[in-house]
Amino acid sequence: MAFFWPDMLLFVSLLILFVCVLAFNRITQTHKVYLAFHFIMMLWPFGQFMLSTTGYPEVQNAYVKLSFTALSMLGPGWLIFVFFLTGRAAMLKGYKTILYLLPSLVCVVGVLWNPAHIFMTPVGGSYLHREYGTFFWLLVVIQFLYFIIALLIMFHALKSVKSLNQRKQLAIAVIGIFVLTGFSALDLLINVLLARWMPIIPGMMSLGILLSDCCFVVAIYRYGMFDILSMAQRDLFAHMAMGIIVVDENGKVMEVNRGAAPFVRVSKGDVFEMEKFLSPLQTQGEVNEFLYKYRNNPQERMQTEITLQENITRHVTIQISPILDDRKTLIGRVITFHDVTELRKLVDEMNRKNEALHERNLELVTIQEELFRVNQKLEQMAITDSLTGCYNRRYLMQQMEHEVLLNMRYRIPFSVFLFDIDHFKQINDRYGHLVGDEVIRSTAGIVRDKLRKTDILARYGGEEFTIYLPHTGREQAELLAERIMYAINQNVVDAGTEKVRVTVSMGVVSEESDDLRFEDPKEFLREVFARADAALYQAKNGGRNRIVLAQEG
Ligand code: GH3
Ligand code: MG
Ligand code: MG
Repeated sequence: MAFFWPDMLLFVSLLILFVCVLAFNRITQTHKVYLAFHFIMMLWPFGQFMLSTTGYPEVQNAYVKLSFTALSMLGPGWLIFVFFLTGRAAMLKGYKTILYLLPSLVCVVGVLWNPAHIFMTPVGGSYLHREYGTFFWLLVVIQFLYFIIALLIMFHALKSVKSLNQRKQLAIAVIGIFVLTGFSALDLLINVLLARWMPIIPGMMSLGILLSDCCFVVAIYRYGMFDILSMAQRDLFAHMAMGIIVVDENGKVMEVNRGAAPFVRVSKGDVFEMEKFLSPLQTQGEVNEFLYKYRNNPQERMQTEITLQENITRHVTIQISPILDDRKTLIGRVITFHDVTELRKLVDEMNRKNEALHERNLELVTIQEELFRVNQKLEQMAITDSLTGCYNRRYLMQQMEHEVLLNMRYRIPFSVFLFDIDHFKQINDRYGHLVGDEVIRSTAGIVRDKLRKTDILARYGGEEFTIYLPHTGREQAELLAERIMYAINQNVVDAGTEKVRVTVSMGVVSEESDDLRFEDPKEFLREVFARADAALYQAKNGGRNRIVLAQEG
Protein backbone atom coordinates (compact mmCIF):
# COMPACT_ATOMS: atom_id res chain seq x y z
CA MET A 1 0.00 0.00 0.00
CA ALA A 2 3.01 2.23 -0.51
CA PHE A 3 1.09 4.29 -3.13
CA PHE A 4 -0.59 6.22 -0.29
CA TRP A 5 2.59 7.99 0.62
CA PRO A 6 2.86 10.51 -2.23
CA ASP A 7 -0.78 11.48 -1.68
CA MET A 8 -0.20 11.81 2.00
CA LEU A 9 2.89 13.94 1.43
CA LEU A 10 0.99 16.13 -0.97
CA PHE A 11 -1.85 16.46 1.50
CA VAL A 12 0.48 17.49 4.31
CA SER A 13 2.45 19.84 2.02
CA LEU A 14 -0.74 21.46 0.85
CA LEU A 15 -1.94 21.78 4.39
CA ILE A 16 1.31 23.36 5.52
CA LEU A 17 1.14 25.72 2.57
CA PHE A 18 -2.42 26.58 3.50
CA VAL A 19 -1.44 27.28 7.08
CA CYS A 20 1.61 29.30 5.97
CA VAL A 21 -0.34 31.44 3.54
CA LEU A 22 -2.90 32.22 6.20
CA ALA A 23 -0.40 32.60 9.01
CA PHE A 24 1.74 35.12 7.16
CA ASN A 25 -1.12 37.14 5.80
CA ARG A 26 -2.55 40.13 7.56
CA ILE A 27 -4.39 38.28 10.29
CA THR A 28 -4.29 38.68 14.03
CA GLN A 29 -2.31 36.68 16.55
CA THR A 30 -5.50 34.96 17.65
CA HIS A 31 -6.20 33.87 14.09
CA LYS A 32 -2.80 32.22 13.99
CA VAL A 33 -3.49 30.39 17.26
CA TYR A 34 -6.81 29.27 15.82
CA LEU A 35 -5.19 27.96 12.63
CA ALA A 36 -2.60 25.97 14.57
CA PHE A 37 -5.37 24.56 16.74
CA HIS A 38 -7.49 23.80 13.71
CA PHE A 39 -4.61 21.93 12.15
CA ILE A 40 -4.17 19.77 15.26
CA MET A 41 -7.90 19.03 15.33
CA MET A 42 -7.70 17.83 11.74
CA LEU A 43 -5.05 15.27 12.63
CA TRP A 44 -7.43 13.04 14.62
CA PRO A 45 -9.87 12.27 11.80
CA PHE A 46 -6.97 12.07 9.39
CA GLY A 47 -5.10 9.57 11.62
CA GLN A 48 -8.26 7.56 12.24
CA PHE A 49 -9.06 7.37 8.56
CA MET A 50 -5.52 6.49 7.53
CA LEU A 51 -5.38 3.81 10.23
CA SER A 52 -8.17 1.96 8.51
CA THR A 53 -6.55 2.16 5.13
CA THR A 54 -3.44 0.14 5.93
CA GLY A 55 -2.74 -3.45 6.95
CA TYR A 56 0.81 -2.80 8.12
CA PRO A 57 0.92 -2.85 11.93
CA GLU A 58 3.89 -0.42 12.05
CA VAL A 59 2.04 2.09 9.90
CA GLN A 60 -1.12 1.55 11.91
CA ASN A 61 0.93 2.11 15.07
CA ALA A 62 2.16 5.40 13.61
CA TYR A 63 -1.37 6.56 12.76
CA VAL A 64 -2.69 5.63 16.20
CA LYS A 65 0.17 7.59 17.75
CA LEU A 66 -0.48 10.52 15.44
CA SER A 67 -4.19 10.52 16.36
CA PHE A 68 -3.51 10.36 20.07
CA THR A 69 -0.72 12.93 19.90
CA ALA A 70 -3.27 15.28 18.32
CA LEU A 71 -5.83 14.29 20.97
CA SER A 72 -3.29 15.01 23.74
CA MET A 73 -2.95 18.51 22.39
CA LEU A 74 -6.66 19.17 22.15
CA GLY A 75 -7.03 19.94 25.87
CA PRO A 76 -4.25 22.55 26.13
CA GLY A 77 -5.30 23.85 22.70
CA TRP A 78 -8.74 24.59 24.07
CA LEU A 79 -7.31 26.11 27.22
CA ILE A 80 -5.00 28.48 25.34
CA PHE A 81 -7.85 29.33 23.07
CA VAL A 82 -10.07 30.11 26.04
CA PHE A 83 -7.39 32.44 27.39
CA PHE A 84 -7.52 34.36 24.13
CA LEU A 85 -11.30 34.39 24.03
CA THR A 86 -11.69 35.75 27.52
CA GLY A 87 -9.04 38.40 27.10
CA ARG A 88 -6.50 36.61 29.29
CA ALA A 89 -3.87 36.21 26.56
CA ALA A 90 -1.44 38.16 28.73
CA MET A 91 -1.37 35.17 31.12
CA LEU A 92 0.33 33.08 28.42
CA LYS A 93 3.69 34.66 28.88
CA GLY A 94 6.97 32.87 29.73
CA TYR A 95 7.18 29.83 31.96
CA LYS A 96 3.42 29.83 32.65
CA THR A 97 2.73 28.60 29.11
CA ILE A 98 5.07 25.65 29.64
CA LEU A 99 3.27 24.92 32.92
CA TYR A 100 -0.09 24.82 31.13
CA LEU A 101 1.36 22.57 28.41
CA LEU A 102 3.31 20.24 30.71
CA PRO A 103 0.57 17.62 31.40
CA SER A 104 -0.18 17.50 27.69
CA LEU A 105 3.52 17.05 26.85
CA VAL A 106 3.64 14.16 29.31
CA CYS A 107 0.70 12.65 27.42
CA VAL A 108 2.48 13.09 24.04
CA VAL A 109 5.69 11.50 25.35
CA GLY A 110 3.74 8.60 26.85
CA VAL A 111 1.80 8.03 23.62
CA LEU A 112 4.84 8.16 21.35
CA TRP A 113 7.14 6.19 23.59
CA ASN A 114 4.58 3.70 24.97
CA PRO A 115 7.11 1.97 27.29
CA ALA A 116 6.08 -1.49 28.41
CA HIS A 117 2.77 -0.99 26.62
CA ILE A 118 1.53 1.34 29.34
CA PHE A 119 -0.44 3.24 26.69
CA MET A 120 -1.71 0.42 24.43
CA THR A 121 -1.13 -3.08 23.18
CA PRO A 122 -2.19 -4.33 19.72
CA VAL A 123 -4.79 -7.10 19.72
CA GLY A 124 -3.87 -9.97 17.42
CA GLY A 125 -0.87 -8.11 16.00
CA SER A 126 -3.06 -5.34 14.56
CA TYR A 127 -3.63 -1.87 15.87
CA LEU A 128 -7.17 -1.74 14.46
CA HIS A 129 -8.11 -3.39 17.72
CA ARG A 130 -6.06 -2.51 20.74
CA GLU A 131 -6.09 -2.76 24.46
CA TYR A 132 -5.50 0.42 26.41
CA GLY A 133 -3.14 0.56 29.38
CA THR A 134 -3.15 2.79 32.49
CA PHE A 135 -1.44 5.65 30.66
CA PHE A 136 -4.42 5.88 28.30
CA TRP A 137 -6.68 6.52 31.28
CA LEU A 138 -4.27 9.11 32.65
CA LEU A 139 -4.42 10.82 29.21
CA VAL A 140 -8.25 10.76 29.33
CA VAL A 141 -8.30 12.22 32.85
CA ILE A 142 -5.78 14.94 31.88
CA GLN A 143 -7.78 15.92 28.79
CA PHE A 144 -11.03 16.06 30.74
CA LEU A 145 -9.32 18.17 33.38
CA TYR A 146 -8.21 20.59 30.64
CA PHE A 147 -11.80 20.77 29.38
CA ILE A 148 -13.19 21.33 32.88
CA ILE A 149 -10.68 24.13 33.62
CA ALA A 150 -11.45 25.72 30.23
CA LEU A 151 -15.18 25.55 30.98
CA LEU A 152 -14.72 27.07 34.45
CA ILE A 153 -12.78 29.99 32.97
CA MET A 154 -15.48 30.49 30.34
CA PHE A 155 -18.28 30.50 32.94
CA HIS A 156 -16.34 32.92 35.08
CA ALA A 157 -15.81 35.21 32.08
CA LEU A 158 -19.49 34.95 31.08
CA LYS A 159 -20.48 36.38 34.46
CA SER A 160 -18.30 39.47 34.12
CA VAL A 161 -18.78 40.25 30.41
CA LYS A 162 -21.45 42.89 29.83
CA SER A 163 -21.51 43.32 26.07
CA LEU A 164 -24.27 41.23 24.51
CA ASN A 165 -22.13 40.49 21.49
CA GLN A 166 -19.28 39.13 23.57
CA ARG A 167 -21.65 37.04 25.68
CA LYS A 168 -22.99 35.42 22.52
CA GLN A 169 -19.45 34.62 21.39
CA LEU A 170 -18.54 33.05 24.70
CA ALA A 171 -21.81 31.11 24.85
CA ILE A 172 -21.10 29.57 21.44
CA ALA A 173 -17.57 28.65 22.52
CA VAL A 174 -18.99 27.01 25.69
CA ILE A 175 -21.36 24.97 23.52
CA GLY A 176 -18.32 23.98 21.40
CA ILE A 177 -16.45 22.64 24.44
CA PHE A 178 -19.56 20.84 25.71
CA VAL A 179 -20.09 19.18 22.32
CA LEU A 180 -16.47 18.06 22.17
CA THR A 181 -16.48 16.81 25.77
CA GLY A 182 -19.81 15.03 25.21
CA PHE A 183 -18.68 13.27 22.04
CA SER A 184 -15.33 12.33 23.63
CA ALA A 185 -17.18 10.83 26.60
CA LEU A 186 -19.59 8.97 24.29
CA ASP A 187 -16.71 7.66 22.17
CA LEU A 188 -14.93 6.51 25.31
CA LEU A 189 -18.07 4.84 26.61
CA ILE A 190 -19.13 3.09 23.42
CA ASN A 191 -15.87 2.38 21.66
CA VAL A 192 -13.64 1.67 24.65
CA LEU A 193 -15.59 0.76 27.78
CA LEU A 194 -18.46 -1.10 26.10
CA ALA A 195 -16.38 -2.24 23.12
CA ARG A 196 -16.74 -5.90 24.08
CA TRP A 197 -20.49 -5.82 24.12
CA MET A 198 -21.29 -3.24 21.51
CA PRO A 199 -20.27 -2.76 17.89
CA ILE A 200 -17.65 -0.08 17.22
CA ILE A 201 -19.19 3.22 16.00
CA PRO A 202 -16.49 4.96 13.98
CA GLY A 203 -16.05 8.72 13.61
CA MET A 204 -17.66 9.62 16.94
CA MET A 205 -14.74 11.70 18.18
CA SER A 206 -14.19 13.15 14.68
CA LEU A 207 -17.82 14.27 14.58
CA GLY A 208 -17.40 15.93 17.98
CA ILE A 209 -14.29 17.72 16.73
CA LEU A 210 -16.06 18.83 13.56
CA LEU A 211 -19.14 20.09 15.43
CA SER A 212 -17.10 21.99 18.01
CA ASP A 213 -15.01 23.46 15.22
CA CYS A 214 -18.24 24.58 13.53
CA CYS A 215 -19.16 26.42 16.74
CA PHE A 216 -15.88 28.27 16.48
CA VAL A 217 -16.31 29.11 12.84
CA VAL A 218 -19.80 30.48 13.55
CA ALA A 219 -18.42 32.56 16.40
CA ILE A 220 -15.56 33.84 14.25
CA TYR A 221 -17.64 34.90 11.27
CA ARG A 222 -20.87 35.93 12.98
CA TYR A 223 -19.44 37.68 15.96
CA GLY A 224 -15.79 38.20 15.05
CA MET A 225 -14.71 36.79 18.38
CA PHE A 226 -10.97 36.93 17.95
CA ASP A 227 -10.08 40.42 17.20
CA ILE A 228 -10.65 42.50 20.31
CA LEU A 229 -9.29 45.55 18.56
CA SER A 230 -11.59 45.20 15.58
CA MET A 231 -14.46 44.55 18.00
CA ALA A 232 -13.63 47.75 19.77
CA GLN A 233 -13.38 49.57 16.45
CA ARG A 234 -16.73 48.17 15.33
CA ASP A 235 -18.30 49.17 18.63
CA LEU A 236 -16.83 52.64 18.35
CA PHE A 237 -17.95 52.92 14.74
CA ALA A 238 -21.50 51.85 15.59
CA HIS A 239 -21.98 54.09 18.59
CA MET A 240 -20.13 57.21 17.54
CA ALA A 241 -22.20 60.39 17.57
CA MET A 242 -20.37 61.39 14.42
CA GLY A 243 -21.91 60.10 11.18
CA ILE A 244 -19.51 57.87 9.23
CA ILE A 245 -19.91 56.42 5.74
CA VAL A 246 -17.26 54.27 4.10
CA VAL A 247 -17.57 54.16 0.32
CA ASP A 248 -15.54 52.36 -2.34
CA GLU A 249 -13.89 54.19 -5.22
CA ASN A 250 -17.23 54.30 -7.08
CA GLY A 251 -19.12 55.76 -4.15
CA LYS A 252 -20.82 52.48 -3.23
CA VAL A 253 -21.53 52.43 0.51
CA MET A 254 -19.53 49.68 2.19
CA GLU A 255 -20.38 50.63 5.76
CA VAL A 256 -22.56 53.26 7.39
CA ASN A 257 -23.10 53.86 11.09
CA ARG A 258 -26.19 54.93 13.00
CA GLY A 259 -24.69 58.37 13.60
CA ALA A 260 -25.02 59.13 9.86
CA ALA A 261 -28.84 58.84 9.88
CA PRO A 262 -29.54 62.45 10.98
CA PHE A 263 -27.46 63.77 8.06
CA VAL A 264 -27.99 61.43 5.14
CA ARG A 265 -30.31 58.53 4.26
CA VAL A 266 -28.16 55.74 2.77
CA SER A 267 -27.80 52.04 3.47
CA LYS A 268 -25.06 49.52 2.80
CA GLY A 269 -24.91 48.81 -0.94
CA ASP A 270 -26.42 52.17 -2.03
CA VAL A 271 -24.38 54.59 -4.08
CA PHE A 272 -23.68 57.79 -2.19
CA GLU A 273 -23.71 60.78 -4.50
CA MET A 274 -22.07 63.79 -2.97
CA GLU A 275 -23.35 66.08 -5.76
CA LYS A 276 -26.94 65.07 -5.08
CA PHE A 277 -26.48 65.45 -1.35
CA LEU A 278 -25.02 68.92 -1.68
CA SER A 279 -27.20 70.12 -4.58
CA PRO A 280 -29.70 72.02 -2.38
CA LEU A 281 -26.74 73.91 -0.91
CA GLN A 282 -25.02 75.00 -4.12
CA THR A 283 -25.49 78.62 -3.19
CA GLN A 284 -23.15 78.31 -0.25
CA GLY A 285 -19.85 79.62 -1.56
CA GLU A 286 -17.45 77.02 -0.21
CA VAL A 287 -19.63 74.08 -1.28
CA ASN A 288 -18.89 74.52 -4.99
CA GLU A 289 -15.18 74.56 -4.37
CA PHE A 290 -15.50 71.49 -2.14
CA LEU A 291 -17.49 69.63 -4.82
CA TYR A 292 -14.93 70.52 -7.44
CA LYS A 293 -12.17 69.07 -5.25
CA TYR A 294 -14.30 66.01 -4.45
CA ARG A 295 -14.68 65.28 -8.15
CA ASN A 296 -11.20 66.16 -9.35
CA ASN A 297 -8.84 65.49 -6.43
CA PRO A 298 -10.22 62.31 -4.88
CA GLN A 299 -6.87 61.50 -3.26
CA GLU A 300 -6.93 64.63 -1.16
CA ARG A 301 -8.21 65.00 2.34
CA MET A 302 -10.88 67.72 2.39
CA GLN A 303 -13.30 69.43 4.69
CA THR A 304 -16.17 71.87 4.47
CA GLU A 305 -18.91 73.24 6.66
CA ILE A 306 -22.51 73.34 5.47
CA THR A 307 -25.70 74.71 6.94
CA LEU A 308 -28.73 72.44 6.78
CA GLN A 309 -32.04 74.28 6.92
CA GLU A 310 -34.74 71.86 8.00
CA ASN A 311 -37.00 72.37 11.00
CA ILE A 312 -33.99 73.79 12.72
CA THR A 313 -30.75 75.19 11.39
CA ARG A 314 -27.81 72.86 11.77
CA HIS A 315 -24.16 73.48 11.04
CA VAL A 316 -22.40 70.34 9.85
CA THR A 317 -18.75 69.70 9.11
CA ILE A 318 -18.13 67.17 6.34
CA GLN A 319 -14.71 65.60 6.23
CA ILE A 320 -13.44 63.24 3.55
CA SER A 321 -10.37 61.07 3.92
CA PRO A 322 -9.13 58.89 1.08
CA ILE A 323 -8.34 55.20 1.62
CA LEU A 324 -5.30 54.30 -0.46
CA ASP A 325 -3.79 50.88 -1.10
CA ASP A 326 -0.06 50.07 -1.03
CA ARG A 327 0.37 51.54 -4.50
CA LYS A 328 -1.34 54.75 -3.43
CA THR A 329 -4.36 53.98 -5.60
CA LEU A 330 -7.68 55.19 -4.27
CA ILE A 331 -9.78 52.25 -3.13
CA GLY A 332 -12.34 54.12 -1.09
CA ARG A 333 -13.17 57.11 1.08
CA VAL A 334 -14.30 57.74 4.62
CA ILE A 335 -16.92 60.49 4.83
CA THR A 336 -17.70 61.88 8.25
CA PHE A 337 -20.50 64.21 9.31
CA HIS A 338 -20.11 66.19 12.49
CA ASP A 339 -22.84 68.40 13.91
CA VAL A 340 -21.07 71.55 15.07
CA THR A 341 -24.22 73.64 15.72
CA GLU A 342 -23.55 73.89 19.44
CA LEU A 343 -19.93 74.74 18.80
CA ARG A 344 -20.89 77.37 16.24
CA LYS A 345 -23.46 78.82 18.68
CA LEU A 346 -20.82 78.99 21.37
CA VAL A 347 -18.33 80.62 19.00
CA ASP A 348 -20.96 83.12 17.80
CA GLU A 349 -21.98 83.86 21.36
CA MET A 350 -18.36 84.34 22.31
CA ASN A 351 -17.78 86.63 19.34
CA ARG A 352 -20.86 88.66 20.28
CA LYS A 353 -19.67 88.93 23.85
CA ASN A 354 -16.22 89.87 22.67
CA GLU A 355 -17.63 92.58 20.47
CA ALA A 356 -19.79 93.93 23.30
CA LEU A 357 -16.75 93.85 25.53
CA HIS A 358 -14.71 95.66 22.93
CA GLU A 359 -17.38 98.36 22.58
CA ARG A 360 -17.65 98.68 26.35
CA ASN A 361 -13.87 98.98 26.47
CA LEU A 362 -13.91 101.76 23.89
CA GLU A 363 -16.61 103.54 25.91
CA LEU A 364 -14.52 103.14 29.04
CA VAL A 365 -11.46 104.52 27.27
CA THR A 366 -13.51 107.53 26.09
CA ILE A 367 -14.86 108.05 29.61
CA GLN A 368 -11.36 107.72 31.00
CA GLU A 369 -10.05 110.33 28.55
CA GLU A 370 -12.96 112.62 29.40
CA LEU A 371 -12.27 112.13 33.08
CA PHE A 372 -8.61 112.87 32.55
CA ARG A 373 -9.49 116.12 30.74
CA VAL A 374 -12.01 117.13 33.42
CA ASN A 375 -9.49 116.33 36.12
CA GLN A 376 -6.85 118.39 34.40
CA LYS A 377 -9.33 121.23 34.11
CA LEU A 378 -10.30 120.90 37.74
CA GLU A 379 -6.67 120.87 38.79
CA GLN A 380 -6.08 123.96 36.66
CA MET A 381 -9.16 125.62 38.08
CA ALA A 382 -8.06 124.84 41.61
CA ILE A 383 -4.81 126.74 41.10
CA THR A 384 -5.86 129.55 38.75
CA ASP A 385 -7.84 132.72 39.12
CA SER A 386 -10.89 132.71 36.84
CA LEU A 387 -10.86 136.42 35.94
CA THR A 388 -7.21 136.83 34.97
CA GLY A 389 -6.00 133.29 34.30
CA CYS A 390 -3.11 133.93 36.72
CA TYR A 391 -2.31 131.53 39.52
CA ASN A 392 -4.20 132.06 42.77
CA ARG A 393 -2.69 132.95 46.08
CA ARG A 394 -2.99 129.43 47.54
CA TYR A 395 -0.99 127.91 44.67
CA LEU A 396 1.66 130.62 44.89
CA MET A 397 2.11 129.95 48.58
CA GLN A 398 2.37 126.21 48.09
CA GLN A 399 4.93 126.60 45.34
CA MET A 400 6.94 129.16 47.23
CA GLU A 401 7.14 126.99 50.36
CA HIS A 402 8.82 124.37 48.21
CA GLU A 403 10.90 126.86 46.19
CA VAL A 404 12.40 128.78 49.12
CA LEU A 405 13.70 125.55 50.60
CA LEU A 406 15.48 124.78 47.33
CA ASN A 407 16.75 128.36 47.15
CA MET A 408 18.20 128.07 50.62
CA ARG A 409 19.78 124.68 49.97
CA TYR A 410 21.37 125.71 46.67
CA ARG A 411 21.92 129.40 47.56
CA ILE A 412 19.69 130.71 44.81
CA PRO A 413 18.61 134.37 45.03
CA PHE A 414 14.96 135.27 44.48
CA SER A 415 12.63 138.28 44.50
CA VAL A 416 8.99 138.92 45.27
CA PHE A 417 6.95 141.82 43.81
CA LEU A 418 3.70 142.93 45.40
CA PHE A 419 1.76 145.56 43.46
CA ASP A 420 -1.65 147.18 43.70
CA ILE A 421 -3.50 149.27 41.10
CA ASP A 422 -3.71 152.88 42.15
CA HIS A 423 -7.09 154.53 42.81
CA PHE A 424 -8.94 151.59 41.46
CA LYS A 425 -12.10 152.43 43.34
CA GLN A 426 -12.44 155.50 41.17
CA ILE A 427 -12.26 153.40 37.97
CA ASN A 428 -15.01 151.19 39.30
CA ASP A 429 -17.06 154.17 40.25
CA ARG A 430 -16.54 155.96 36.99
CA TYR A 431 -16.73 153.22 34.40
CA GLY A 432 -18.47 150.45 36.29
CA HIS A 433 -17.34 147.04 37.52
CA LEU A 434 -17.16 145.48 34.05
CA VAL A 435 -14.55 147.99 32.94
CA GLY A 436 -12.85 147.52 36.30
CA ASP A 437 -12.70 143.78 35.61
CA GLU A 438 -11.27 144.40 32.14
CA VAL A 439 -8.61 146.69 33.64
CA ILE A 440 -7.59 143.97 36.11
CA ARG A 441 -7.49 141.32 33.34
CA SER A 442 -5.57 143.56 30.94
CA THR A 443 -3.01 144.64 33.55
CA ALA A 444 -2.37 140.97 34.44
CA GLY A 445 -1.89 140.16 30.73
CA ILE A 446 0.61 142.96 30.25
CA VAL A 447 2.62 141.88 33.28
CA ARG A 448 2.59 138.22 32.21
CA ASP A 449 4.13 139.15 28.86
CA LYS A 450 7.15 140.58 30.64
CA LEU A 451 7.88 137.49 32.72
CA ARG A 452 9.94 134.33 32.23
CA LYS A 453 8.42 130.86 32.24
CA THR A 454 9.77 130.13 35.68
CA ASP A 455 8.30 133.27 37.24
CA ILE A 456 4.95 132.91 38.96
CA LEU A 457 2.33 135.66 38.64
CA ALA A 458 -0.55 135.30 41.10
CA ARG A 459 -3.60 137.38 41.94
CA TYR A 460 -3.06 138.23 45.60
CA GLY A 461 -6.33 140.04 46.28
CA GLY A 462 -8.91 142.23 44.40
CA GLU A 463 -6.57 144.34 42.25
CA GLU A 464 -3.42 143.31 44.01
CA PHE A 465 -0.82 140.94 42.42
CA THR A 466 2.32 139.08 43.46
CA ILE A 467 5.20 137.91 41.31
CA TYR A 468 7.70 135.31 42.47
CA LEU A 469 10.99 135.54 40.54
CA PRO A 470 13.54 132.79 41.14
CA HIS A 471 17.22 133.39 40.28
CA THR A 472 16.61 137.12 40.52
CA GLY A 473 18.81 139.30 42.67
CA ARG A 474 18.23 142.89 43.79
CA GLU A 475 19.59 144.62 40.70
CA GLN A 476 17.79 142.42 38.25
CA ALA A 477 14.61 142.81 40.28
CA GLU A 478 14.78 146.59 40.14
CA LEU A 479 15.24 146.54 36.38
CA LEU A 480 12.37 144.16 35.85
CA ALA A 481 10.09 146.09 38.24
CA GLU A 482 10.66 149.26 36.28
CA ARG A 483 10.02 147.53 33.00
CA ILE A 484 6.73 146.23 34.37
CA MET A 485 5.72 149.66 35.71
CA TYR A 486 6.45 151.16 32.35
CA ALA A 487 4.48 148.53 30.43
CA ILE A 488 1.47 149.05 32.73
CA ASN A 489 1.67 152.82 32.28
CA GLN A 490 1.66 152.36 28.49
CA ASN A 491 -1.30 150.01 28.56
CA VAL A 492 -4.62 151.47 27.41
CA VAL A 493 -7.94 149.80 28.19
CA ASP A 494 -11.09 150.63 26.18
CA ALA A 495 -13.99 151.87 28.35
CA GLY A 496 -16.64 152.57 25.74
CA THR A 497 -15.75 155.92 24.22
CA GLU A 498 -13.00 156.66 26.68
CA LYS A 499 -9.55 155.15 27.13
CA VAL A 500 -8.40 154.08 30.62
CA ARG A 501 -4.84 154.01 31.80
CA VAL A 502 -3.67 152.90 35.24
CA THR A 503 -0.58 153.00 37.38
CA VAL A 504 0.50 150.67 40.12
CA SER A 505 2.46 150.95 43.34
CA MET A 506 4.93 148.16 44.00
CA GLY A 507 6.84 146.74 46.96
CA VAL A 508 9.89 144.66 46.07
CA VAL A 509 11.65 142.15 48.31
CA SER A 510 14.92 140.60 47.09
CA GLU A 511 16.67 137.81 48.95
CA GLU A 512 20.31 137.37 48.03
CA SER A 513 21.77 133.90 48.40
CA ASP A 514 23.93 134.75 51.41
CA ASP A 515 20.97 136.02 53.46
CA LEU A 516 18.93 132.90 53.06
CA ARG A 517 18.79 131.28 56.46
CA PHE A 518 15.51 130.11 58.11
CA GLU A 519 13.97 127.15 59.84
CA ASP A 520 10.28 127.30 59.03
CA PRO A 521 9.52 128.17 55.38
CA LYS A 522 5.95 129.30 56.23
CA GLU A 523 7.11 131.65 58.88
CA PHE A 524 9.87 132.92 56.57
CA LEU A 525 7.33 133.60 53.79
CA ARG A 526 5.01 135.42 56.17
CA GLU A 527 7.90 137.70 57.02
CA VAL A 528 8.87 138.18 53.33
CA PHE A 529 5.31 139.20 52.46
CA ALA A 530 5.05 141.47 55.48
CA ARG A 531 8.12 143.28 54.20
CA ALA A 532 6.73 143.46 50.66
CA ASP A 533 3.45 144.77 52.06
CA ALA A 534 5.25 147.42 54.08
CA ALA A 535 7.18 148.49 50.95
CA LEU A 536 3.92 148.66 48.98
CA TYR A 537 2.37 150.75 51.75
CA GLN A 538 5.35 153.09 51.57
CA ALA A 539 4.97 153.38 47.80
CA LYS A 540 1.29 154.29 48.24
CA ASN A 541 2.08 156.79 50.91
CA GLY A 542 4.93 158.20 48.89
CA GLY A 543 2.48 159.30 46.17
CA ARG A 544 1.78 156.06 44.26
CA ASN A 545 3.02 154.97 40.79
CA ARG A 546 6.36 154.01 42.23
CA ILE A 547 8.56 151.14 43.36
CA VAL A 548 9.85 150.77 46.90
CA LEU A 549 12.57 148.28 47.66
CA ALA A 550 11.92 146.65 51.02
CA GLN A 551 14.39 146.91 53.87
CA GLU A 552 16.59 143.88 54.19
CA GLY A 553 15.15 141.40 56.75
P1 GH3 B 1 -5.20 152.75 46.37
O1 GH3 B 1 -4.49 153.56 45.42
O2 GH3 B 1 -5.00 153.21 47.80
O3 GH3 B 1 -5.02 151.32 46.27
O4 GH3 B 1 -6.70 153.08 46.12
P2 GH3 B 1 -7.79 152.10 45.66
O5 GH3 B 1 -8.97 152.85 45.23
O6 GH3 B 1 -7.28 151.14 44.65
O7 GH3 B 1 -8.09 151.42 47.01
P3 GH3 B 1 -8.17 149.85 47.35
O8 GH3 B 1 -7.04 149.19 46.76
O9 GH3 B 1 -8.36 149.76 48.83
O10 GH3 B 1 -9.49 149.47 46.72
C1 GH3 B 1 -9.70 148.31 45.89
C2 GH3 B 1 -11.02 148.35 45.27
O11 GH3 B 1 -11.06 147.47 44.18
C3 GH3 B 1 -12.12 147.90 46.20
C4 GH3 B 1 -13.01 147.03 45.40
O12 GH3 B 1 -14.29 147.56 45.20
C5 GH3 B 1 -12.36 146.97 44.08
N1 GH3 B 1 -12.27 145.62 43.64
C6 GH3 B 1 -11.70 144.57 44.31
N2 GH3 B 1 -11.77 143.43 43.55
C7 GH3 B 1 -12.41 143.77 42.35
C8 GH3 B 1 -12.76 143.07 41.18
O13 GH3 B 1 -12.53 141.91 41.04
N3 GH3 B 1 -13.37 143.79 40.17
C9 GH3 B 1 -13.66 145.11 40.27
N4 GH3 B 1 -14.26 145.72 39.25
N5 GH3 B 1 -13.35 145.75 41.37
C10 GH3 B 1 -12.71 145.14 42.42
MG1 MG C 1 -5.66 149.89 44.84
MG1 MG D 1 -6.14 147.22 46.84
